Amino acid sequence: MKRNAGFVLLAALAATSLFAADASDGSRWWSYIEYLASDKLEGRNTGSEGHRQAAEFVAAHLQRDGLKPAGTQGYLQPVKFITKELDESNSSLQLDHGGTPQTLQLGEDAIIGTRVDPAPSVDAGLCFVGYGLRVPDLKYDDFAGVDTKGKIAVYIGGAPASMPSALAAHAQSTGERWAAMKSAGIIGAIGISNPHHMDVPWPRVASSRFQMTMQLAAPGTGETEGEQITIGWNPAHADELFAGSGHTFDELVDIAESGKPLPRFALPARLKAKTAVKHGAVESQNIAAIYPGSDPKLKDEYVVMSAHIDHLGIGKPINGDAIYNGAMDNASGIASLLEIADHLKEENVKTKRSILFVIVTGEEKGLLGSRYFSLNPTVPVHSMVADINTDMFLPLYPLKIVTVYGLDESTVGDDVRAVAQELGIRAQPDPEPQRNIFIRSDQYNFVRQGIPAVVLKFGNEKGSPEAALEKQWLTDRYHAPSDDLQQPVDKHAAAQFNVLLEQVVERIADNPARPTWKPDSFFRRYESR
Ligand SMILES: [Zn+2]
Repeated sequence: MKRNAGFVLLAALAATSLFAADASDGSRWWSYIEYLASDKLEGRNTGSEGHRQAAEFVAAHLQRDGLKPAGTQGYLQPVKFITKELDESNSSLQLDHGGTPQTLQLGEDAIIGTRVDPAPSVDAGLCFVGYGLRVPDLKYDDFAGVDTKGKIAVYIGGAPASMPSALAAHAQSTGERWAAMKSAGIIGAIGISNPHHMDVPWPRVASSRFQMTMQLAAPGTGETEGEQITIGWNPAHADELFAGSGHTFDELVDIAESGKPLPRFALPARLKAKTAVKHGAVESQNIAAIYPGSDPKLKDEYVVMSAHIDHLGIGKPINGDAIYNGAMDNASGIASLLEIADHLKEENVKTKRSILFVIVTGEEKGLLGSRYFSLNPTVPVHSMVADINTDMFLPLYPLKIVTVYGLDESTVGDDVRAVAQELGIRAQPDPEPQRNIFIRSDQYNFVRQGIPAVVLKFGNEKGSPEAALEKQWLTDRYHAPSDDLQQPVDKHAAAQFNVLLEQVVERIADNPARPTWKPDSFFRRYESR
């Protein structure tokens, strides 16, 4: 058993040490993953039977632990979705440099995204707009001085190094980026990933285009109205776009890597696109449950613990395996919530505020279940004082550092810091802002309702063996069928992470003062109520 000094010390000091509990080896936590990530549940795709069974399992478990139902149908909150699948045989892309248009190979050169509602046909000029961002607070505008009217904007993922990471992440969110483009008269977008910061290799990006995309069926919830086309371009073929512009993709990536501002310029080519999409409808489930607080007044306030239960379902086989089990992404986070619910019950833990467990669907489709919940909360919005989200926290090695996304945005970060310190763990801010983690999981929808939030993951030192392990995991297993039960996981470290998580939640729940945004946090503006 691997223990670090801090944990041993704490165990020695605390009479009723959490680590003395039989759950501390992580075996019970793992047993929940064994069910949720089993082949039987077929990868828990939003709207699937496997997802429904997973949701029932979680609801029954929370009920057994004595939590009160907080959905709209018992513990469940059904959510309706429109599904979209690209009909690739009736879709095409052509790049026109003024001679014979070059027909692109879908999947090799580029992929057509269906998160927007693509127009059946588009024929438009192109412009390069750097990172494609506008941040009025910083007087930053990638669209200034470029002819953008009626154009398709080409941009490189990321943000200038000078931009604070949470703000950079926010500006790159689907809704914010599109709002800025739309106001510049842009009709569509081509995104090229910076090859130095890609989570997965291009072939896996390309095969993801066969996955069904979804949007909330409720009217007025879309964030890309008016966007006629969205395209992901293979960085290895990006020079097809820049031909004749006097710039190369390598040169632009070098500028981005050096942290200097990217140039913006017109591109001589036009893009012609034909897109056919098949539509359908599904229903899926959020789950919500309350662990009641003990303080007569504060019990009407809630500390939210959120995690997504959906994954990618069945997809393109890789090495003969077509089930995308999603063991770490994010059966692991759901298992942590179940483990914490067990522990609250077993120890009869009393917290002043209530704890609201919110397990959401549709995360992989664009944070849709949490968006639905945040727009249709089952408790008053203002009664939710904080959200602690858990998504793919990756317990691949001993827990010495916890990465806290949103660490410096609110007092919730201070709470995490304090608890981590007591446990002998170091809390660090986002070490790789280019990956935009702060907006890439469900906490972001709580943030947009003004609720201070963080998401916690295992951290590591740059250049360390742990960092290499994490990188390897992302390359090999992230959103691949091999994120399954046959992978090495540090269960003991995961159990320690669960303790950290629970103590953070309890600390916030017991603090007479509710969490607040830091005065200089960009996200404070959402705290309008
Ligand atoms: Zn995922």
